[in-house]
Amino acid sequence: MNEFELIERHFRRAPHHPELRVGIGDDGAVIAPSPGMEYVLTVDMLVEGRHFVAGTDPVRLGHKALAVNLSDLAAMGALPRFALLAVALPDADEAWVAAFMRGLDALARQYDVELIGGDTTRGPRNLCITAIGELPAGSALLRSGANPGDRIYVSGTLGDAALALAVAGGRSDVDARSRAALGRRLDAPEPRVALGVALRGVASSAIDVSDGLVGDLGHVVTASRVGAAVDLAALPCSPALRAKLGSAERELALACLLAGGDDYELCFTAPHAMDERIEALALALRLPLTPIGAVGAHGGGLTVRDESGRALARLPQAFDHFG
Ligand SMILES: [Mg+2]
Repeated sequence: MNEFELIERHFRRAPHHPELRVGIGDDGAVIAPSPGMEYVLTVDMLVEGRHFVAGTDPVRLGHKALAVNLSDLAAMGALPRFALLAVALPDADEAWVAAFMRGLDALARQYDVELIGGDTTRGPRNLCITAIGELPAGSALLRSGANPGDRIYVSGTLGDAALALAVAGGRSDVDARSRAALGRRLDAPEPRVALGVALRGVASSAIDVSDGLVGDLGHVVTASRVGAAVDLAALPCSPALRAKLGSAERELALACLLAGGDDYELCFTAPHAMDERIEALALALRLPLTPIGAVGAHGGGLTVRDESGRALARLPQAFDHFG
């Protein structure tokens, strides 16, 4: 099967969203913006050997490749609309492509995302998705909006994906049930799309936690020219990770929780006037939204206080692809 047959069979779709004027099949897609709306564009790449190991279930990879992009749109408060897919594959393995597209399509259907273009080439396995979302003009959530006195929140739990990796790599161990739950967090992250959209006009800043809390909240601190103090005891985590915090594996647990990466939760800030709205939002979305600390004055940097209120002397660092 050649490249064009692969595209024809697995990527081509009938146009679906009304603002799409021209979809797959021309040299480019044409979208007519809805009045009063802005587009948010983001791109993310998954590379074999770097972001996933050879032999990873293609269905899960299809899910994850799109999920990480939808997570970035969520962090901006955008509603996902379109995606473009560029893949490099070592061979024209049709079964692999079909499985990958099953995973991608299931998540795309869930969030009504339309695939409007792409490219395939032969090469080391590499999956690159560009996602396009929309939001009312001027309503995007930015990293630069946090103000001293704001509360800092995080959705869901942190550190599970990193703990799953540690377990898979033989650096830690958990019971079989926890292993399955942690594995799902690593392989099938759920982008917090509904939360991101609901945070428009509520959050003062937002970011998705993809490289670990310390690194990502650090971006907010820098962009907003503020300081931040986070309480370790307040950080939401799974029972499996919580148990390790009080054990001989505390260092590993701290690294997972603070710098693990691959969480795809949202970290956001909001003034105290929004406390009740955020509590109501957590109930409506059935998603824990946990206050973890407070925004402080510029120059204070990012501090994490341990269970006795003392600042950790050394913070585990975020994952750096070029580090
Ligand atoms: Mg991000």
